[in-house]
Amino acid sequence: MQGDTIFGKIVRGEIPTDFVYQDDLCVCIKDINPQAPVHLLVIPRKPIARLVDASPEDQALLGHLMLKAGEIARSAGCGDAFRLVINNGEQAGQTVFHLHLHILGNKVYTESGL
Ligand code: IMP
Repeated sequence: MQGDTIFGKIVRGEIPTDFVYQDDLCVCIKDINPQAPVHLLVIPRKPIARLVDASPEDQALLGHLMLKAGEIARSAGCGDAFRLVINNGEQAGQTVFHLHLHILGNKVYTESGL
Protein backbone atom coordinates (compact mmCIF):
# COMPACT_ATOMS: atom_id res chain seq x y z
CA MET A 1 0.00 0.00 0.00
CA GLN A 2 2.90 2.33 0.66
CA GLY A 3 5.35 3.52 -1.94
CA ASP A 4 5.18 4.93 -5.40
CA THR A 5 2.44 4.13 -7.88
CA ILE A 6 1.64 4.64 -11.54
CA PHE A 7 -0.23 7.82 -10.56
CA GLY A 8 2.86 9.13 -8.79
CA LYS A 9 4.79 8.73 -12.02
CA ILE A 10 1.98 10.40 -13.98
CA VAL A 11 1.67 13.45 -11.73
CA ARG A 12 5.45 13.92 -11.82
CA GLY A 13 5.42 13.80 -15.61
CA GLU A 14 7.57 10.67 -15.77
CA ILE A 15 5.07 8.93 -18.05
CA PRO A 16 3.86 10.75 -21.17
CA THR A 17 0.22 11.51 -20.46
CA ASP A 18 -2.47 13.66 -22.04
CA PHE A 19 -3.79 15.72 -19.17
CA VAL A 20 -7.44 16.72 -19.33
CA TYR A 21 -6.66 19.32 -16.69
CA GLN A 22 -3.78 20.18 -14.43
CA ASP A 23 -2.87 22.79 -11.87
CA ASP A 24 -0.41 23.06 -9.01
CA LEU A 25 -2.43 20.72 -6.78
CA CYS A 26 -3.93 18.08 -9.05
CA VAL A 27 -4.16 16.56 -12.50
CA CYS A 28 -7.02 14.96 -14.40
CA ILE A 29 -6.55 12.11 -16.87
CA LYS A 30 -8.76 9.72 -18.79
CA ASP A 31 -9.18 6.32 -17.17
CA ILE A 32 -7.38 3.66 -19.18
CA ASN A 33 -10.29 1.23 -18.72
CA PRO A 34 -13.40 3.42 -18.90
CA GLN A 35 -16.53 2.26 -17.11
CA ALA A 36 -18.70 5.03 -18.57
CA PRO A 37 -18.63 7.18 -21.73
CA VAL A 38 -16.87 9.82 -19.64
CA HIS A 39 -14.49 8.28 -17.09
CA LEU A 40 -11.89 10.64 -15.74
CA LEU A 41 -9.60 10.51 -12.74
CA VAL A 42 -8.75 13.54 -10.61
CA ILE A 43 -5.46 12.88 -8.85
CA PRO A 44 -3.76 15.10 -6.29
CA ARG A 45 -0.08 15.71 -6.88
CA LYS A 46 0.45 14.89 -3.21
CA PRO A 47 0.75 11.10 -2.87
CA ILE A 48 -1.92 10.38 -0.28
CA ALA A 49 -2.45 6.61 -0.44
CA ARG A 50 -6.11 6.42 0.57
CA LEU A 51 -8.79 8.92 1.53
CA VAL A 52 -8.44 7.83 5.15
CA ASP A 53 -4.75 8.66 5.03
CA ALA A 54 -5.55 12.32 4.45
CA SER A 55 -4.98 14.53 7.47
CA PRO A 56 -6.55 17.79 8.66
CA GLU A 57 -3.82 19.68 6.81
CA ASP A 58 -5.22 18.21 3.58
CA GLN A 59 -8.65 19.75 4.10
CA ALA A 60 -8.19 22.51 1.52
CA LEU A 61 -6.68 20.04 -0.96
CA LEU A 62 -9.66 17.69 -0.62
CA GLY A 63 -12.03 20.59 -1.18
CA HIS A 64 -10.03 21.63 -4.23
CA LEU A 65 -10.32 18.12 -5.69
CA MET A 66 -14.10 18.14 -5.25
CA LEU A 67 -14.56 21.57 -6.76
CA LYS A 68 -12.31 20.78 -9.71
CA ALA A 69 -14.05 17.44 -10.27
CA GLY A 70 -17.36 19.25 -10.64
CA GLU A 71 -15.91 21.82 -13.01
CA ILE A 72 -14.13 19.19 -15.09
CA ALA A 73 -17.24 17.00 -15.29
CA ARG A 74 -19.21 19.89 -16.71
CA SER A 75 -16.39 20.83 -19.08
CA ALA A 76 -16.34 17.22 -20.28
CA GLY A 77 -19.99 17.48 -21.26
CA CYS A 78 -21.57 15.64 -18.35
CA GLY A 79 -23.95 18.47 -17.56
CA ASP A 80 -25.45 17.98 -14.13
CA ALA A 81 -25.48 14.17 -14.35
CA PHE A 82 -22.30 12.50 -13.19
CA ARG A 83 -20.97 10.47 -10.32
CA LEU A 84 -17.88 10.98 -8.21
CA VAL A 85 -16.44 7.80 -6.72
CA ILE A 86 -13.57 7.22 -4.34
CA ASN A 87 -12.63 3.63 -3.64
CA ASN A 88 -10.98 3.49 -0.23
CA GLY A 89 -9.04 0.33 0.47
CA GLU A 90 -8.48 -2.94 -1.34
CA GLN A 91 -11.75 -4.48 -0.18
CA ALA A 92 -13.61 -1.49 -1.60
CA GLY A 93 -11.95 -2.04 -4.96
CA GLN A 94 -9.04 0.36 -4.70
CA THR A 95 -6.23 -0.86 -6.92
CA VAL A 96 -3.97 2.20 -7.16
CA PHE A 97 -2.88 3.46 -3.76
CA HIS A 98 -2.62 7.12 -4.63
CA LEU A 99 -5.87 8.93 -3.85
CA HIS A 100 -8.05 9.64 -6.88
CA LEU A 101 -11.61 10.64 -7.65
CA HIS A 102 -13.43 8.87 -10.46
CA ILE A 103 -15.70 11.09 -12.55
CA LEU A 104 -18.28 8.92 -14.29
CA GLY A 105 -20.59 10.61 -16.74
CA ASN A 106 -22.81 10.32 -19.79
CA LYS A 107 -24.05 6.96 -18.59
CA VAL A 108 -27.69 6.46 -17.62
CA TYR A 109 -28.00 5.14 -14.09
CA THR A 110 -31.54 4.03 -13.28
CA GLU A 111 -30.87 3.37 -9.62
CA SER A 112 -28.40 4.43 -6.99
CA GLY A 113 -26.26 1.34 -7.41
CA LEU A 114 -25.10 1.67 -3.83
P1 IMP B 1 -9.26 2.25 -8.26
O1 IMP B 1 -9.74 0.85 -8.51
O2 IMP B 1 -10.30 3.11 -7.60
O3 IMP B 1 -7.93 2.27 -7.53
O4 IMP B 1 -9.08 2.90 -9.68
C1 IMP B 1 -7.89 2.83 -10.39
C2 IMP B 1 -8.25 3.22 -11.79
O5 IMP B 1 -7.07 3.59 -12.46
C3 IMP B 1 -8.89 2.10 -12.62
O6 IMP B 1 -10.16 2.55 -13.10
C4 IMP B 1 -7.89 1.89 -13.76
O7 IMP B 1 -8.53 1.60 -14.98
C5 IMP B 1 -7.16 3.20 -13.79
N1 IMP B 1 -5.80 3.17 -14.27
C6 IMP B 1 -4.80 2.34 -13.90
N2 IMP B 1 -3.65 2.65 -14.52
C7 IMP B 1 -3.94 3.72 -15.31
C8 IMP B 1 -3.14 4.50 -16.21
O8 IMP B 1 -1.95 4.29 -16.42
N3 IMP B 1 -3.79 5.53 -16.85
C9 IMP B 1 -5.10 5.79 -16.64
N4 IMP B 1 -5.86 5.07 -15.81
C10 IMP B 1 -5.29 4.05 -15.15
